[in-house]
Amino acid sequence: MSEREGLLPKSTDVIIVGCGPVGATLAALLGQQGVNVLVIDKAPSILMMPRAIALDNEALRVLQMIDVGNRDFAQIAIPRVRMHSPVMGNFATANTQGTLDGHPKLVTFYQPELEQAIERRIKACQTVTVCRSSELITFKENEQDVVAMIKGPDGARKAVKCAYLVGADGASSLVRNLIGQGFKGKTFREDWLIVDARRKNAGPIDHVEFICDPKRAIPHMPAPGGRERWEFMLHPGETKEQMEHPAKIAELMAPWADKEDLAIERTAVYQFHARCCNAFSRSRVHLVGDAAHITPPFVGQGLVAGLRDVANLGWKLAWVIQGKAQPEILTSYDQERRPHALKMINLARFMGHLVMTRNTVSAFLVHGLMRTARLLPPLRRHLEELEIKPINQFDEGLFRRRRGFRQGRALRAGRQMPQFWLHHQGESKLSDDVFAQGLVMVGFGRDPKSALAPRQIQAWLDAGGRFLHIVERGGQVQRDDQAEDALGAALSRTPKGWLAVVRPDNFVMAEGPASQAQSMIWDCLGLLGEIDTVSILRSS
Ligand SMILES: Cc1cc2nc3c(=O)[nH]c(=O)nc-3n(C[C@H](O)[C@H](O)[C@H](O)COP(=O)(O)OP(=O)(O)OC[C@H]3O[C@@H](n4cnc5c(N)ncnc54)[C@H](O)[C@@H]3O)c2cc1C
Repeated sequence: MSEREGLLPKSTDVIIVGCGPVGATLAALLGQQGVNVLVIDKAPSILMMPRAIALDNEALRVLQMIDVGNRDFAQIAIPRVRMHSPVMGNFATANTQGTLDGHPKLVTFYQPELEQAIERRIKACQTVTVCRSSELITFKENEQDVVAMIKGPDGARKAVKCAYLVGADGASSLVRNLIGQGFKGKTFREDWLIVDARRKNAGPIDHVEFICDPKRAIPHMPAPGGRERWEFMLHPGETKEQMEHPAKIAELMAPWADKEDLAIERTAVYQFHARCCNAFSRSRVHLVGDAAHITPPFVGQGLVAGLRDVANLGWKLAWVIQGKAQPEILTSYDQERRPHALKMINLARFMGHLVMTRNTVSAFLVHGLMRTARLLPPLRRHLEELEIKPINQFDEGLFRRRRGFRQGRALRAGRQMPQFWLHHQGESKLSDDVFAQGLVMVGFGRDPKSALAPRQIQAWLDAGGRFLHIVERGGQVQRDDQAEDALGAALSRTPKGWLAVVRPDNFVMAEGPASQAQSMIWDCLGLLGEIDTVSILRSS
C-alpha cells in the first residue's frame, strides 16, 4: 500500500477526480508507468452496489493491461444472448460463444469484486496516492498547470497543483460542468427496476435473455456466485417506492421463484440516459467514462466505453509527462474516442427500441422483421455474429493513414492490433503482454531491424521504441526481441515480412511492407512530435 495514502500532496502530475472503475483503471495504468497520480473520491469507499454486470473482450483486454483478470474477479462466459417475444418466441439470437483476441466475447461479473481488484492494483503502485472522502470543489486552469481546490476528509480545503486533471467523476460530473461541456442527447423516459438475487433451489440460467414483452420488457441474466439479475421496465404511473416494495418484488419474481426460494441482494430503480458531450477534452482537462458519455445498458457498453477511454488517454498522458511526446498528441484522445462512444450509444438506443416496444402491433412487426432478417445470410451474420457492433477503429487520430487497405487483412492502422499467443522468454504469453505497453515495431516473419540502418535503429530505441521479430511456429527464438508464433495465428493472417508499429494501447500506428520500415519510423516519431529525432533520421 502506498505510504502516502490519504494525504493530499501539494502537487502531482495528474489528478483523477473519481475512483469509480474508470478512474481507478486510469490510476493503475498511469501508476505502472511511474507517473505521479492523486486520485480523489468523495465517497469513503467503493460503491458496493453492482451496476455494470457485463463486459466484452475489449474491456477484458484493457483490464489485462493492468494485470487484472479472471483470477482476480469471477466471470461467467455467456454463450448467447436470446431475444424472446411472447408472440413470436425466440426471434433473434446473438452468438457470443468463444473468444476474440484472447478473451471471451462476453462475460458477466460482480462489479464490487472488480473494483476491489483494481484498488489492490493501485495500492501496489508507489506513485499513486488515493484520497477518499475528498471532494473536488473547483479548479483553475492556467497555461502551465491546473490548480484544484479539494475538500479533504477533515473538511479543510487544500489547493493541489497538477499538470493534467481528469474528470472520472461519473454521470453528474462537476469537471464536465466546469469546462462548460453540457451533456447532449436523449433520456429514455422509462424507469427500470433492477433486482439482483440468488435462487436457493435452482441454478441460474446460462445465457442472457431479453423478454421483449410489450406488457413489460425484462432483460434477465446470470452473474457469478449464483446471482441473477432481472430488469423490469416500469409502467407509466408506477413509482420507485411502489416498485421497490417487497410485496411488488415478490409479485414480479413469482414466475421465476417462490418468495421463500429467493434471496434478494438489492433492488433499485434507475432511469437510463443516452448522452455524450461535445468534446472530451479542454486543454489540460480530460473527461473519461460516465463523465464523458452515458448509455442505456442494453448492450452492456457503459463501463466498457470508459475502459476504452482510459486505455487511449493513459499512455498519451504518460508519454507527454515523461517528455517522450509533445502535448499536442492529447488532442487525438477526443478525435479517436468520441465517434466510437457515440456509435455505441446509438447501438444501445437501437437495442432499447427492440426491447422496449410497448405497442403490441409494433412489437409484432418489429420482432417479426427481426425474425425474417435471420433468413438472409448477410443480415443473419450482422445480427447473430455481432457484426452489428461498431468496430473500434479511428477515422482520424494518431496513426499513419495508408491508402489501398484490403478488406479481410488483419492489420489496419487506426484499429486494434489482433491479439495472439506467443512464446517469449520461455513462456507462453498473450501478445499484449509481450508488447508490454511499449511502442513496438513488430516484424512478421522478419526482423524489423534488418530493414533499418544502425542509426535509425538507435533513434527508435532512444525515442522509447522497441523491436519484436515474430518467428514462424517451430522457428528458433534466441533473443528477447524475438517471439515464436505459438499457435500460428499471427503469421497466418499477415503477409510474411510485413511490419507494424503497435502503440502502447495496442492499436496499430502504422503498417506496411519492410521496404517502408524507414518511413514508418519517421512518420510515427513525427506523429509523437519527436521532431529532432525525425530530422536526424531524414538527414541520415
Ligand atoms: C443498472 C445498470 C446496469 C449497467 N450495466 C452495465 C453493463 O452491463 N456493462 C457496462 O459496461 N456498463 C454498465 N453500466 C454502466 C456502468 O455501471 C458505468 O458506465 C460505470 O460504472 C461508470 O464508471 P465511472 O468510473 O465512469 O463512474 P462512477 O462509477 O459513477 O464513478 C464516479 C466516481 O466519482 C466520484 N465523484 C463524483 N463527483 C466527485 C467530486 N466532485 N469529487 C470527488 N469524487 C467525485 C463518485 O463518488 C464516484 O465514485 C450499467 C449501469 C447501470 C446503472
